[in-house]
Amino acid sequence: MSATRLTELTAAQAVAAMQRGETDATELFEAYRAAAQADELNAYLWVADGAPAAPPPSGAPLAGVPLAVKDLFCTQGVPSQAGSKIIEGYRPPYTATVVAGLADAGAPLLGKTNQDEFAMGSSNENSAYGPVLNPWDRTRVPGGSSGGSAAAVAAGCAPWALGTDTGGSIRQPAALCGIVGLKPTYGTVSRYGMIAFASSLDQAGPLTRDVTDAALLLRHMVGHDARDSTSVGFPGEIATPSAERLDGIRLGVPEELTGEGIEPGVLDAFNATLELAQELGATVQTCRLPHAPHALAAYYVLAPAEASSNLARYDGVRYGARVSGDGGLPEMYTRTRSEGFGAEVKRRIMLGTYSLSSGYYDAYYGSAQRVRTKIAEDFHAAFGTFDFVVTPTAPSVAFELGSKTEDPFAMYLNDYCTVPMSLAGTPAISIPNGLSEGLPTGLQIAGPAFSENRILDAALALERAIGFDGSSGRTRSREAGRRAHHQDAGPEAPRSYD
Ligand code: GLN
Repeated sequence: MSATRLTELTAAQAVAAMQRGETDATELFEAYRAAAQADELNAYLWVADGAPAAPPPSGAPLAGVPLAVKDLFCTQGVPSQAGSKIIEGYRPPYTATVVAGLADAGAPLLGKTNQDEFAMGSSNENSAYGPVLNPWDRTRVPGGSSGGSAAAVAAGCAPWALGTDTGGSIRQPAALCGIVGLKPTYGTVSRYGMIAFASSLDQAGPLTRDVTDAALLLRHMVGHDARDSTSVGFPGEIATPSAERLDGIRLGVPEELTGEGIEPGVLDAFNATLELAQELGATVQTCRLPHAPHALAAYYVLAPAEASSNLARYDGVRYGARVSGDGGLPEMYTRTRSEGFGAEVKRRIMLGTYSLSSGYYDAYYGSAQRVRTKIAEDFHAAFGTFDFVVTPTAPSVAFELGSKTEDPFAMYLNDYCTVPMSLAGTPAISIPNGLSEGLPTGLQIAGPAFSENRILDAALALERAIGFDGSSGRTRSREAGRRAHHQDAGPEAPRSYD
C-alpha cells in the first residue's frame, strides 16, 4: 500500500489492513516515521531511528500501529524533557507504565512530541523547544499543553498519540486541531513515569482521529498499577463503541459554561449539535453547576501549589542541568533554577510557594480545596438527573501565535470549560464539532467516574451524525508545506538526538 494511503487510515483501519495482509507493521511504521521526520509543525522533539527490530508478537491487539508520545512520559534511553531546558537531554532509565503497556500491546514508540514546559500552558508557546504550529493554519496555535501530540495526529504525522490532561491539556488541543481527545477518570491510568505537574489532577489519555481509535487505545491504557499510589484501575473493560442513537440519553447543558465568554461561532456549532442530539433521541435540558465559575480560580491555586512541590526536585543535583557559581550551594540552586525554568513555570512556582506558606495556607490552598469539593458535589448532583454534561470544549477556535502570550489571564481562560471536570476527577471527551471561521471547534461530553464506555458510545453516535471531515486538516497541512518549499527552504527540521 502507498505511504500516503497508509497514513490516511485510522489506527483501527490499519490494524484491520494488517490482519488482511495488505500491509505489515514495518511498512506502516516506516510510512509514519517518514511523515514524522518531515514534520514542519515542530510537533516532534525526537523521532525513532527505525522500525522496531522485532515485529509485534503475533496476536498483539494493536498489531504494530506506532504511537507518538508526549515528551513528559519517561521512555528508557530516549530524551524525556517535559518540554523544559532544565532536563534537556535527560534519558530515563525506565519507561512509564502506560507507554510500556502499549508497546506490549503492539503500539511501539514512534516519537516524542513537543509540549508546554511541564505541561503548563494552553498554546504550546511555553515549550523551551519552540511553539508547535496548528496544521489547519500555521499562523495559529495547536492548543496545549499536549499540542505536539494533537498537531501530529491532525496532520497525519502519527496515527494516534498520548497526551496528559491536568486542566484540559488533552481536550483543548484536540478541539483546536479537529481530533478526538479523552481525559479518563482520575486513577484509571497509571501516572508512574509521567513527569509530574500537579499530581492530584494529572491524567494520561488518548489523542486520536476518531472515537473508535480512542476506545482502542484507552483499552490498553487503563488498569491498576502498584507503582502509582493513586491508581484505582478500571472496573471491566473498555469496549468498542457501537451506538448509532441516543435514545433515552439525558444531556445537561450547564448554563455556567455555555454563556458569556464563548465565541459566537463556537456556540452556534454547539447549539447545532444539541439539535442533532435531539434528532438522535436525546433529551436536552439546562442544568446547574453553581460552583463551576470558581473552578479556574481554584485550579490556579491548587495546580501551582502542587507544581511548586513537584518541581522542587530540579535542584541541579539529581537531574539534568546544573549551573554553578562562586557562591556555593545556594548560588548553584538559584542559578540552575533561574536559567533552567521558563517564565510560566517560574510564575507558578512562585504562586504555589506563596499559597502554601504558613500564614496563607488556609486562606488560599484550604479555600481552593473546599471549592474543589463543592465542584465535585455539583457534578455528583448533576449526574443524578443527567447522563452527561455537555459543553463546548474551548471558548474559541485556535488563536494566532503570540496573541495571548503577554496576558496569562487570557491564556488561562482557555480552560474555563475543561478545568471543572479535572477538579472533580470525572472523565470527559472532546470530539470535533464542525468548523467556525474555517477552524475546528470541539464538543465536550463529561460523565460520572468510570462512565468511559457510555461516553464513548454517545461520542460515537454524535461523531457519525456530525460527519466532521478531519482529512482537510491533513490536506491543508500538506498544501502549506508545499507552498513553503516553493518559497524557501522551509522551517528547521525536527531535532533528533540520535
Ligand atoms: N492550560 C492549563 C494549565 O496551564 C492546563 C494544563 C494541563 O492540563 N496540563 O495549567
